[in-house]
Amino acid sequence: MTAQPPLPNQVTLWHTLEADKALELLQTDRQLGLTSDQAAAQLERYGSNELVEAQGRSAWNILFDQFTNIMLLLLIAVAIVSGILDFVSWQAGDLKANDVPFKDTIAILAIVILNGLLGYLQESKAEKDLAALKQMASSRVRVIRDGKTLEVDSRDLVPGDVMLLEAGVQVAADARLIEAANLQVREAALTGEAQAVSKQVAVALPDDTPLGDRVNLVFQGTEVVNGRATAIVTNTGMKTELGRIATMLQEVESEPTPLQQRMDQLSQALVTGALTLVGLVVFGGIGYAAWRTGENLLKVALGPTGKEFLEVSLSMAVAIVPEGLPAVITVTLALGTQRMVKRHALIRKLPAVETLGSVTTICSDKTGTLTQNKMVVQLVHTSHSALRVTGEGYDPAGEFQPLNGDGAGAIAPSHHPELLNLLTACTLCNDAILQKEQGDWVILGDPTEGALLSVAGKAGFQKDQWTNEMPRLAEFPFSSERKRMSVIVETAANAEAGSGVDRYMMFTKGSPELILERCTQIQVGEAAQPITAQQRQTILEQNNQMAGRGLRVLGFACKPLSAVPAETDEETAEQQLIWLGLVGMLDAPRPEVRGAVARCRSAGIRPLMITGDHQLTAQAVAEDLGIAYPGDRVLTGRDLEKLSLAELEQVVEEVSVYARVAPEHKLRIVQALQHRKQIVSMTGDGVNDAPALKQADIGVAMGITGTDVSKDASDMVLLDDNFATIVAAVEEGRVVYTNIRRFIKYILGSNIGELLTIGAAPLIGLGGVPLSPLQILWMNLVTDGLPALALAVEPAEPNVMNRPPHDPQESIFARGLGSYMLRIGLILSILAIGLMTWSYSYTHTVYTDPADQDRWKTMVFTTLCLAQMGHALAIRSNTRLTIEMNPMTNLYVWASVVFTSLLQLALIYVPFLRNFFGTHYLNMTELGVCLGFSALMFVWVEMEKIALRLYVTWQKRKG
Ligand code: ADP
Ligand code: MG
Repeated sequence: MTAQPPLPNQVTLWHTLEADKALELLQTDRQLGLTSDQAAAQLERYGSNELVEAQGRSAWNILFDQFTNIMLLLLIAVAIVSGILDFVSWQAGDLKANDVPFKDTIAILAIVILNGLLGYLQESKAEKDLAALKQMASSRVRVIRDGKTLEVDSRDLVPGDVMLLEAGVQVAADARLIEAANLQVREAALTGEAQAVSKQVAVALPDDTPLGDRVNLVFQGTEVVNGRATAIVTNTGMKTELGRIATMLQEVESEPTPLQQRMDQLSQALVTGALTLVGLVVFGGIGYAAWRTGENLLKVALGPTGKEFLEVSLSMAVAIVPEGLPAVITVTLALGTQRMVKRHALIRKLPAVETLGSVTTICSDKTGTLTQNKMVVQLVHTSHSALRVTGEGYDPAGEFQPLNGDGAGAIAPSHHPELLNLLTACTLCNDAILQKEQGDWVILGDPTEGALLSVAGKAGFQKDQWTNEMPRLAEFPFSSERKRMSVIVETAANAEAGSGVDRYMMFTKGSPELILERCTQIQVGEAAQPITAQQRQTILEQNNQMAGRGLRVLGFACKPLSAVPAETDEETAEQQLIWLGLVGMLDAPRPEVRGAVARCRSAGIRPLMITGDHQLTAQAVAEDLGIAYPGDRVLTGRDLEKLSLAELEQVVEEVSVYARVAPEHKLRIVQALQHRKQIVSMTGDGVNDAPALKQADIGVAMGITGTDVSKDASDMVLLDDNFATIVAAVEEGRVVYTNIRRFIKYILGSNIGELLTIGAAPLIGLGGVPLSPLQILWMNLVTDGLPALALAVEPAEPNVMNRPPHDPQESIFARGLGSYMLRIGLILSILAIGLMTWSYSYTHTVYTDPADQDRWKTMVFTTLCLAQMGHALAIRSNTRLTIEMNPMTNLYVWASVVFTSLLQLALIYVPFLRNFFGTHYLNMTELGVCLGFSALMFVWVEMEKIALRLYVTWQKRKG
């Protein structure tokens, strides 16, 4: 009877089956995996390995949230009140000939709805974009297909795939283990149990075993925290255990940024202020009128005076609230994330965009972030010889030459038993794969290990051949804490049982000091002899010499064994080793990093290097890159452990290089820096880096070498693993923050101007309100809104990275923003009031028709709008004059200014719009006067810059 593969909708209790039975059912091969044809067919049959995302926030929720916004609530209230006012005049027969009743109410409500819809579209798009960005960071899975190891997109995983798991991986589908070494998996996503579960291959469990105890299976969404395994995929997509409870999926985190939170508070304050103002104006105005005329209070309130004050106060309420602001901020942040992704920084949490701008300390890994992570072995030391290695990149072509030889040429490895043993260790104590792909030698796995395969290849060693002869039976895997790894293999001698030779051999590699400590013997020639103090001394010197040149050095040892040790025996097993030698590899710094470090310095940001590597290696690289200077102190993990948090806080300000650290030290460094009021960005790639990434203000994960777990804990992912990308993201963060501040002062300055102008009208005794709520809304949303959006894409000013970071706790109004707003608001209102006074008497002298006499209102409206256009042009820079700025660098500003000015003219000259917005026709003289007054605004802002410049020069001369 041949086994039938399970149908897509059939539930198989995989935990009850032996591994071989599962392999048979899934028609796959443990060594060869599926063929690519099979995989394609399976994909067709079972579909893509994706979870249909349970939405974080439903569409309804997002929509509803829009209308609970306090600003919109205020507008709705205004619409209702002005509806009532209209109703009253309609009843009284006061309606003008061609007036549409309830026009304002309808228009305001329309704007409210439109605004709500726009907000809804924006927010749902932002959520989708963020989710899509996360998808970009979606994981690659290592599988075996057609007998070859390759990486596929997790979405292309199919049942039957042979999947390789290692520490840090997030399991991409449900699978049955067929081989496992020290495998521990955290299944919190599924069972809520935080403790990691140890997994085993060789069991078939009763069918009622609860999920948490199915130790022979791994489940999608869980995290491998330790060890390594091979498993065959049993279920994918929504068929997995996680898929069944897909609602539990992590949702997209679009939490508000600190600035957004403060803006929300500000708008609440403004709305409260607006309501208070309405109350004051209405009651104060009516009370004052009643007192002056001696009339009955109620009669005044219900009469035309009361109505006038109510209208004034409504207009003021609308004027004070920055209706357009939240949308502009959202768009700016979204645009910021897009610019960052173009520069290879993927934002996972929106607040990061803003926090990036205030980063003061960037802590970075060395390997792969500051360096290229393209390891090339340069030197090899054994007890007998010191050798230089030739060749290019990972290409296993090349040879070994004596280091202090006379260039006499290559040695023959076969004459050097120590070297042969060392290279055997390189080959077997190794999880990487070296392959030729399209003519290039590439590695799959850790570059450190890839370099070892390539150096062994120079003596003709091939990994697959050797692993066949000496299969791996057990291992103690590498971790950044252990800084070493060991494998136990079956030796070839095993074939001739009873030969007296030990059947098993352990090969160990890792940080040289650590390995050497555990050695009692050293291989010299064919034999092992006790290691002398002198030999230890020499080895450490060689190590220091190589490290001092910036090389990454690994030590190697071996140990014959008569039995395979248990997984838990690492401490006793990794003792009494036989020293084999040292291997030194070069990992060249990334060329762009030196410049990036210099940019950090000029931007007032301190770069720190935190590495698991040797202190001398770390120091050499740090000095080369400008992170440290010769003679600077380097702190090691061991030193760190001796310090209390208080002591560490002292040290952390001075020391820029931390070597031989373990992930938990990273957490302490972040905490110490944060106590020192630093805003810290911290990189990490391993599982154990997650706490430090969470603690940091900006946790940065590696896109290429990073584990899924670290990415999950991060705020930002570096798509190219590059330090320079962090600096680029910081720059973009600063640009975003500067631009947000720029349009906040632009928008709020205008609001203050409007408010003062409207309030002044009745005070200086002009009859009526110059601006209706509808016109003010138009200004706040359209004629201010569009240029503000354009200001949001203003490119970086040349000095963004030449000034210290801003304090994230600072108030929105800090550093002159508040006083600028008040000043500009005042200037704007002085201009508008000046124009208002003049135009009021002018229209009342020239015209007799009351409709024409009202032209002054339209002139005020137009002046306020156009003055803001000049303001928009001038505010692009705080220091450079508009004529000094290339208009091409932000054409949007110019386009928006032209476009909004045209819209404003349309409101005056298109009869239908004129009617709707309640504006009046203006002749050329009147329009010209408006233009003239408006232009003064531009002139003022430019004059401020000139004055500032003169002041600075004067200060310089004086000081
Ligand atoms: P980093 O990535 O900062 O260089 P790691 O934590 O990866 O530091 O490595 C720390 C040390 O562990 C290295 O300096 C090296 O001595 C050792 N090491 C690194 N990779 C391996 C490995 N694959 N096997 C054994 N030892 C390793
Ligand atoms: Mg590393």
